[in-house]
Amino acid sequence: MIRYKSLEEIEIMRESAMLVSETLGMLAAEVKPGVSPLALDALAEQFIRDHNAVPGFLGLYDCPNTLLTSVNEQVVHGIPTDRPLEEGDIVSIDCGVFKNGFYGDQAFTFMVGKVSDEVFALLKTTYEALYLGLAELKVGNRIGDIGNAIETYATSKGYGVVKELVGHGLGQQLHEEPQVPNFGKRGKGKKIQEGLVVAIEPMINMGTHRVKQLKDGWTIVTHDGKPSAHYEHDVAVVNGLPEILSSFEPVFRVTGNPFGS
Ligand code: MG
Ligand code: MG
Repeated sequence: MIRYKSLEEIEIMRESAMLVSETLGMLAAEVKPGVSPLALDALAEQFIRDHNAVPGFLGLYDCPNTLLTSVNEQVVHGIPTDRPLEEGDIVSIDCGVFKNGFYGDQAFTFMVGKVSDEVFALLKTTYEALYLGLAELKVGNRIGDIGNAIETYATSKGYGVVKELVGHGLGQQLHEEPQVPNFGKRGKGKKIQEGLVVAIEPMINMGTHRVKQLKDGWTIVTHDGKPSAHYEHDVAVVNGLPEILSSFEPVFRVTGNPFGS
């Protein structure tokens, strides 16, 4: 069952979403060669607790950490390790918070130092695909329109769209109905209605769309070992149109916007 949110609830959710955004912005200044994901995880947990919230992932489904950090060929659900990031790596940092009874959930794939042109193109396409997808979250459309926009754009560039993991409804639970796949058919799926709040999160692979899970029971990696990118926003339907509750501005205040828009 989909639980639609009132305008008051959406304002509370904006606060949760923006705390994740500010956490990512804090981390943006720390992501550099030599820093370990585990060190970033500790900073994020402290930052969230200092803002009167609790980490949203920690302990949920037995998740051991505040962040999920997925490096290079890792797609999502990477568990932070003490292995330092290296120049040219990319790292998807996915973070959740729980505040005032509602979750925020957002991800950004960071460049560690300078990355190759090929990898940058993958990041830019994934970032753009997120915005193309969320623009379809409006009354009159269906859930399939979101995934169709993402899939059409990513595959036009020759990339693989991950099918096994999807976006989701968001609210008092981290994962609510409906599922929001990053692929789909236009005009198919549930009707989008006022008050729907979802996390939209394309996971796009440089090579094959196929993925597998590591023996740790968490980390998802690409089947061919090529890199994967992941960007995520929390988006509500307000007055029939998409309203983004999270923001990449805190990150871009630190790094500048490498994608130009
Ligand atoms: Mg997430
Ligand atoms: Mg999510």
